[in-house]
Amino acid sequence: MASPNHVNTIVIGAGHAGLAMSQRLTERSIDHVVLERGEVANTWRTERWDSLRLLTPNSHTRLPGMADRGTDPDGFMTMSDVVQLINDYAATIEAPVQTGTTVTRVIATDDGYEVTTDRGVWRCSTLVLASGSANVANVPAFAQELPPSVATMTPMTYRSPAQLAEGGVLVVGGSATGVQLAEEIHRSGRPVTLSVGEHVRMPRSYRGRDIFWWMDAAGVLDERYDEVDDIVRARHTPSPQLVGSPEHRSIDLNTLGEIGVEIVGRLGSVNDGVALFSGALANTCRLADLKLTRLLDRFDQWASSAGVEGLAEPDPPRPTVVSADAPLSIDLRRRGINTVLWATGYRPDYSWLGLPVLDYRGRIRNEGGVVQGAPGVYLLGGSLLRTRRSSYISGAAEDSRVLADHLHSYLASGVGSPT
Ligand SMILES: Cc1cc2nc3c(=O)[nH]c(=O)nc-3n(C[C@H](O)[C@H](O)[C@H](O)COP(=O)(O)OP(=O)(O)OC[C@H]3O[C@@H](n4cnc5c(N)ncnc54)[C@H](O)[C@@H]3O)c2cc1C
Repeated sequence: MASPNHVNTIVIGAGHAGLAMSQRLTERSIDHVVLERGEVANTWRTERWDSLRLLTPNSHTRLPGMADRGTDPDGFMTMSDVVQLINDYAATIEAPVQTGTTVTRVIATDDGYEVTTDRGVWRCSTLVLASGSANVANVPAFAQELPPSVATMTPMTYRSPAQLAEGGVLVVGGSATGVQLAEEIHRSGRPVTLSVGEHVRMPRSYRGRDIFWWMDAAGVLDERYDEVDDIVRARHTPSPQLVGSPEHRSIDLNTLGEIGVEIVGRLGSVNDGVALFSGALANTCRLADLKLTRLLDRFDQWASSAGVEGLAEPDPPRPTVVSADAPLSIDLRRRGINTVLWATGYRPDYSWLGLPVLDYRGRIRNEGGVVQGAPGVYLLGGSLLRTRRSSYISGAAEDSRVLADHLHSYLASGVGSPT
């Protein structure tokens, strides 16, 4: 058997987060390799639907060490733009990526970590887990109760409406993915029912500025993981109802209802082919409206205290209108619903990680990306890892800087001395 390759640091994953870390490590002259199971930007190439655009404007898609590309700061990238950006980034920073290399096991050794891949074994002193937080689509266990005639799909396998069987579609989940797909599928001519639980409303723009301008300027994106009241809850906050479109339009339950999408409550179970929905839809929507009002009030207060000039008058979105007759149950076959699309979130896959670092939910225990229970191991990417910005591409710049500094100090301290 060939002897293991040795390197100071192994980064697992060549998405934007792993590459940002690679740039930081190169800056600090730390010898490393980035192991990637597919190609650079693999998830954007293989796990997203065709029409998707980023919901963050271009001004929020910066990566460390990459020059401004002069693209329209207010535009929204298509998937091929994103793949191009990340690919160009890997080339610009000369990231030492080994593509087509799947990590199958990570274990601790006396002086660091052993990383087994389908193309050989590596040893390292420090490890960066940048394998993504959206590796698996969440599908509730009761999905098994669906009649065999109903096809199921997740946003990772959905590409366009052309893939779907004729007939109605039940989209489950009212966050960014669910509202975008409900709209697209409805426009393809299929009747769509959208099942909505807790959700986050956001207009595309407010007082003439993009919502991300507000969240950035008013400090929302800089709120730290150790400042929020309930970090577990905050990390599971649904993504906002937003879409990136050339028209900069808003999307919410009102716009969907107006084009004919049927809005129902949270899907609780499926029984004998009948889908049962929560009766709390109106309350859920009132709560989302209330939270939106609070957010916009916060923006107004910040703008007035910061003396921001040139803003349009406040233009709060209309309260959500839902039908008092929203059905509590639908017999899927009788209604002609032939597809259920689970837009119910994602989770990471750490089945290959043989380190004692997972909590009871299977999440990695960490303090702002410094993994607990495995010295010299770092986590990058994912919701509120360090700040609210961490959920977005732009968060990798600061997160990778802080964690690379920590990693550098760890190596310099001689614990887990370089291999
Ligand atoms: C549908 C969707 C839309 C989003 N829209 C936006 C948006 O508009 N704006 C925004 O800023 N963010 C957006 N995000 C969030 C975020 O930017 C992405 O989730 C992003 O892909 C995370 O980057 P990452 O580098 O952490 O992980 P990923 O891009 O997932 O990269 C992880 C890499 O690790 C590799 N990998 C995984 N396991 C292994 C293994 N065992 N061995 C080797 N390699 C492995 C994967 O192939 C992948 O290339 C969106 C996310 C989703 C799911």
